[in-house]
Amino acid sequence: MKIHLISLGCPKNTVDTEVMLGHLLQAGHEVATDPARADIIVINTCGFIQSAKEESLDAIMAALDLKRNRPHLRVVAAGCLTQRYRAELAREIPELDAILGVNELPGIVAAVRGDAPAAPEPPLYLYGHDTPRRRITPGHYAYIKVSEGCSRSCSFCAIPAIRGPFRSRPPADILAEADNLLAEGVRELILIGQDTTAYGGDLADPATISALLRALDSRPGDFWIRLMYAYPTGITDELLSVMAGGIHICPYLDIPLQHSHPDILRRMGRPGSGERFLALLAEIRRMIPECTLRTSLIVGFPGETETHFRHLEDFVRAARFDHLGVFTYSDEEQTAAFALRPKVSVRSAEDRRRRLMEVQAAWLAEQARQRIGHKYPAIVDGWSREAEFLIEARTPGQAPDIDSVIYCTRGDLEGLRPGDFITVRLQEYVGYDYTAAVGR
Ligand code: SF4
Repeated sequence: MKIHLISLGCPKNTVDTEVMLGHLLQAGHEVATDPARADIIVINTCGFIQSAKEESLDAIMAALDLKRNRPHLRVVAAGCLTQRYRAELAREIPELDAILGVNELPGIVAAVRGDAPAAPEPPLYLYGHDTPRRRITPGHYAYIKVSEGCSRSCSFCAIPAIRGPFRSRPPADILAEADNLLAEGVRELILIGQDTTAYGGDLADPATISALLRALDSRPGDFWIRLMYAYPTGITDELLSVMAGGIHICPYLDIPLQHSHPDILRRMGRPGSGERFLALLAEIRRMIPECTLRTSLIVGFPGETETHFRHLEDFVRAARFDHLGVFTYSDEEQTAAFALRPKVSVRSAEDRRRRLMEVQAAWLAEQARQRIGHKYPAIVDGWSREAEFLIEARTPGQAPDIDSVIYCTRGDLEGLRPGDFITVRLQEYVGYDYTAAVGR
């Protein structure tokens, strides 16, 4: 049968989609790039926050619209939304042919066949290096999920309820996957998980993210390693010294801090304070001077006053992040924060988000003035999806899909291919992105 797969949400979901696709292809099915030509549409949903839930429901409804004219078309929903709202979806959208949770990825083959899922509560799932998988990312980069689930208790977050407790893959399994990917020609390995710095602590033979990075870094060849989703208290001196001494490891840390005011952080169930975070950032910059820092923050959390917000504004001004994601609080049932009062109005939260982004934009414009004219190493991503006839590239300080990009407009553009390592000289700063001339 011809199957059209729609993958929504974060890179962790992307890996799940790739595992489902691997199982489907192994079972002899084919991919349909056009949903209108598919026998089956599979939507791997996201259910983290309200906007993601709406996007997932829209995708399900669009597929069911196609089914109206083609009754033989089957529509399967999988992923975080279905894990979270399985009973509601089954009741409200009976037209769905099958619903799979996040622990039923191999069950996609039976679901496509029309068989009922094996068990209502399957064991917690985590793929391995020999699991069938067909990557849907561009060929030169790949995500490696080092762990699944989360055992922290951030009061706003539904992930532990959806994905289950934190569990790590054994180091040997991850190294085998990395070796396979490098042998396939992948040039950038991106380590992901809900909480990557907690890696290995749960294993019978405990491991650490530092030791894992060191082992990956010892692999021969020309490639990058990028670590995502570091928890602030998980950034140890050992991790920083492995990163500082690494040959392949990008000087890049994504540390979702969520807020700076201690009162709000306590209500969020998170450690630290703006003061401690600034000390951490200073230490990272001392040990890895060229380190790019990304964070994400939440505004409008229940109880956040103008005073708390001004604290956050000052913090962002002082921290000088290279990349910043600001989210307005999403009130999620099944989380502790759902019961917290007082709620902040959507309007205030949106306004605070705008104000924070203005602070960040002013800093990034200043940073751009310092960067223009300088040379940076970069990896070619290929033809731009946003702008015609432009080639996109990224420096080690830019992760694919979430950070800004570099548009290569001049220089040695002939014959550039995705995955090529090049040198770029930054020329212009345009709306968070840069244009650059290419050298080799
Ligand atoms: S560490 Fe991240 S995934 Fe885990 S509970 Fe907190 S916000 Fe959610």
